Amino acid sequence: MRGADRRPPFAGLEGREPEELFGALPTPCYILDEKALRRNGELLAGVARRTGCKMLLAQKAFSNFNLYPLLAPYVDGTEASGLYEARLGFEEMPGRQVHVFSPAYRAEQWEEMLGYASHIVFNSPRQLSRFGPSAKARGKSVGLRINPQCSTQNHPIYDPCAPGSRLGVTREQWDREMTPELAALLDGLHFHTLCEQDADALELTLTAVEESFGGVLPRMQWLNMGGGHHVTRPGYDVPRLEGCIRRAAERWGLQVYLEPGEAWALNAGYLAARVVDVVENAGVSTAILDASAACHMPDVLEMPYRPSVYGAGEAGEGRYMFRLGGPTCLAGDVMGEYGFDRPLAPGNFLLFGDMAIYTTCKNNTFNGLPLPPIYARREDGALECLKAFGYGDFKDRLGREM
Ligand SMILES: *Cc1c(COP(=O)(O)O)cnc(C)c1O
Repeated sequence: MRGADRRPPFAGLEGREPEELFGALPTPCYILDEKALRRNGELLAGVARRTGCKMLLAQKAFSNFNLYPLLAPYVDGTEASGLYEARLGFEEMPGRQVHVFSPAYRAEQWEEMLGYASHIVFNSPRQLSRFGPSAKARGKSVGLRINPQCSTQNHPIYDPCAPGSRLGVTREQWDREMTPELAALLDGLHFHTLCEQDADALELTLTAVEESFGGVLPRMQWLNMGGGHHVTRPGYDVPRLEGCIRRAAERWGLQVYLEPGEAWALNAGYLAARVVDVVENAGVSTAILDASAACHMPDVLEMPYRPSVYGAGEAGEGRYMFRLGGPTCLAGDVMGEYGFDRPLAPGNFLLFGDMAIYTTCKNNTFNGLPLPPIYARREDGALECLKAFGYGDFKDRLGREM
């Protein structure tokens, strides 16, 4: 791949060379691109405006709250998967709804959770029966996660519809365990079954939801269609999504919520790295970088996927094939194999694309690696350090304080 790399993860560079833009920053570092975040926000808010649905930010994908003020005009509220996310949304997106979902709420955290949440989604009739009445007494809107048993994707660890899944109530379980008193506690239903998918998968899922839960939906005030909608990806079928939202809202007479995570910050960030060494084994050349897949982009190994690198193609493309690896002890700390049109050497600058999601909020200090600092690329192009980390971030969660 020669010259400016204009693939979506790098479109925000507007044809400039990464090293020219970011070469002065310490590596590794994350760079969050405000222009791209705003573009995503405008697109998502447009869907909400045209359909009447409400758009929540699922914080587990992106929770760099320094930039919440930028997203605030486009966001109706936040979604939290855990206690601290609920608190973060409550404190840093003030005055907005806080929706929470947990596979199992704990008694010790319940009172605190109630203090932050506006909407609470339960995962089982037992949890609904245990905590639902106190949520209602505190004026919270109460929902139940359903499982439409409609798998539309092939990332097994992201498929809540797989047989035996612990996420969501199936129709069979509903019929067995939901008493009229329990059902009367419900203001809404919630499903989350998609991952990086287009609106055709949502359409299929809604058909399954209608078949299994169409009978109870007219009694609900809201339906939350979860996340996994790749709305801001080029080529996503936005009119089809809007059709799904309108049909559901009209057919069942309810408020639709969407709670994407990825879509808010898709292609809105980078991870900058440099080559530290190059090693050879059995004809494979590996560039060892100062950035780690295991520590700094954990979904590369967990999902798994191969991240985009500026100016690099598939392994077979280009004259030089390099495997990119991290500096940890883990043999599998590898981003993937890439084709380059120049050989890599120590000091070379590399830019990973689409690194604003599931990174800064999911990274770790395995092996005692420092956490990369987080920079903002302001809308005027200025680079500003939002947060730098140190030894304390590694040590403080390991001990002392007795
Ligand atoms: C993960 C998750 C989301 C966000 O998913 P994305 O794929 O990042 O859009 C939303 N809601 C729930 C309940 C989730 O678990």
